[in-house]
Amino acid sequence: PIVLGIESSCDETGIGIVAGRRLLTNTVSTSMDEHARFGGVIPEIASRAHLEAMIPALDAALDEAGVGMDEVDAIAVTSGPGLSGALMVGVSAAKALAVATGKPLYAVNHLVAHVGVGLLEDSASAAGDTESEASLLSGLGALLVSGGHTEILKVSDISGDVTLLGSTLDDAAGEAYDKVARVLGLSYPGGPAIDRAAASGDPRAFTFPRGLTAAKYMGTVQDPGSHRYDFSFSGLKTAVARVVEGLEAHDEPVPVADIAASFQEAVADVVTSKAMLACTENGIDTLLLGGGVAANSRLRQLVSKRCSEHGIRLVVPKLSLCTDNGAMVAALGARLVQSGVAPSGLDFTADPSLPVTTVSIGS
Ligand code: ATP
Ligand code: MG
Ligand code: FE
Repeated sequence: PIVLGIESSCDETGIGIVAGRRLLTNTVSTSMDEHARFGGVIPEIASRAHLEAMIPALDAALDEAGVGMDEVDAIAVTSGPGLSGALMVGVSAAKALAVATGKPLYAVNHLVAHVGVGLLEDSASAAGDTESEASLLSGLGALLVSGGHTEILKVSDISGDVTLLGSTLDDAAGEAYDKVARVLGLSYPGGPAIDRAAASGDPRAFTFPRGLTAAKYMGTVQDPGSHRYDFSFSGLKTAVARVVEGLEAHDEPVPVADIAASFQEAVADVVTSKAMLACTENGIDTLLLGGGVAANSRLRQLVSKRCSEHGIRLVVPKLSLCTDNGAMVAALGARLVQSGVAPSGLDFTADPSLPVTTVSIGS
């Protein structure tokens, strides 16, 4: 089926069009620059930017794909989780389009869409084989690391059976990157800045905490602790701040590269080690890495090393498909159509805290 996907949960306005597993177009415009001077996404600015970008993005996507609305079989839209006002812009646009064209509308979960993007042919070839679709549809795990989320999912059936194995109790991984970058005087967004600074640093210069890895949180396989697969980054962020404050108090130079490398090592280590545990203990043999932090060079390196050590197949969609975009929404929508899931109708609303177990509204 040809499906048009609309994404507006955070600061990216994304329109993607797919034909089954084939990506036709992926148009993304971001308001990131407008948030830079605040050091984080300002919801009102994001909502207004979505309003301004939505119609031009829709036109551009249809144009680029060479597809007319009459050829589209279904529309899919992110209905949550995300920023309330931002989601509302996409949901309203999608409903208007559905009413105007009479096409079925699917309200889908943003986080599951991050996984659904792995079904596209582009991502499958990243996994290095052609059997990908079948294995991606059963027993798939996902490690989602972005500015808003840090989660490990077990996806038994992407059309409707998703379990949350673990998530962050405080900051998301990307949020930690952004906050630590600020402490180090690096630019926003912090992830790329820390990644660059870390390149010339020593990852062993400082030992920063790996959150929730103490025995009382981990427990054992037989008797798991309360947070075996969960994350916490606030202690790590504080530890970095303490080091910087200490050095500055003594007028000593701050070794930015070493701190960046050591911080990056701590994040990559804890995130990948917990993902490996979750996979091996839950019968997961394929892991999808998604979210903006999937761009991190050390994380990519470590996750691929550890996956091969554990015999886990790794799928890392190309970066433009890892960060927020409309193609992932369209890809999940196409899967729902193929699985015969009923469309969502028109009376759903955006849900900023939509649980990850709800793949689509009404399914
Ligand atoms: P969400 O997808 O959770 O709704 P989001 O829009 O903030 O929220 P993304 O756009 O997927 O998330 O990712 C943005 C985050 O990725 C930022 O926090 C940014 O610092 C981080 N990031 C980007 N590149 C890198 C990198 N090379 N290393 C580490 N982090 C990175
Ligand atoms: Mg973003
Ligand atoms: Fe996202």
